[in-house]
Amino acid sequence: MSGTKSEIAFLARALKAPRIAARAEPLAKRAVEESWDHETYLAAVLAEEVSARDTHGGQHRVKAARFPQTKTLDDFDFSFQRSVKKATMAHLAQLDFLAEAKNVIFLGPPGTGKTHLSIALGVQAARRGYRVAFASAQDWVGRLAAAKKAGKLEEELERLRRVPLVIVDEVGYIPFDPDAAALFFALIASRYERASLIVSSNKTFSSWAEIFGDAVAVAALVDRLVHHAEVIVLQGDSYRLKDRTKEVMSTTEGV
Ligand code: ADP
Ligand code: MG
Repeated sequence: MSGTKSEIAFLARALKAPRIAARAEPLAKRAVEESWDHETYLAAVLAEEVSARDTHGGQHRVKAARFPQTKTLDDFDFSFQRSVKKATMAHLAQLDFLAEAKNVIFLGPPGTGKTHLSIALGVQAARRGYRVAFASAQDWVGRLAAAKKAGKLEEELERLRRVPLVIVDEVGYIPFDPDAAALFFALIASRYERASLIVSSNKTFSSWAEIFGDAVAVAALVDRLVHHAEVIVLQGDSYRLKDRTKEVMSTTEGV
């Protein structure tokens, strides 16, 4: 018996499957207690290894995505933000849009939850096995500018196309000069109908012309971006100010 145990440990190591090594024996005990047949036992052991790998890979992808914080749909208060339905977000969280290379756009004033919802979808995607990359619009442009300087813009765009979900946060916080605008257009065009984007902006599309300084190019850009996209317009007060307002109210109440 102990020979079999050490053989299992040896074989699990050879398979690089540490969870099998750890779980084979306790599950064998349960199998005896609960009279499992052989297939049930094997399936239980393999399931443990698979779930350990999923969790591990998921954590790795969440980390690699470089989210500024981890946010989920569970910690989003849909009773505060009523301009997006919970069902709409739950549907997006099924991630069909990734398989179809569609985009998701969040528009709305500061503090309405654009970044939170973008991250929540990104975390979900990472956990489900998709590679994700998150950065602000300005950071993306900075990265592409560096690649261009090194003569590797096309290479970088191609590399990014292999990432199924690129999240571009905060379009419009800082206006782009013509070079930056051109790089941003290149990113959008490069992913069009090939790989998904989540884009968020505190400006309406009609004021994007000012950010990019070229109305004609912006029209073409927005056209590509929204052609296959779910556009979610968030309204209302800033969630950040919600707590501040309470704070101020309770302070004044005390006075
Ligand atoms: P935006 O990107 O639209 O400026 P954020 O998504 O960064 O706004 O939201 C600001 C802060 O408020 C974040 O910490 C976010 O998690 C939180 N927040 C915003 N909306 C909600 C909400 N409806 N429920 C819970 N937290 C929220
Ligand atoms: Mg934001």
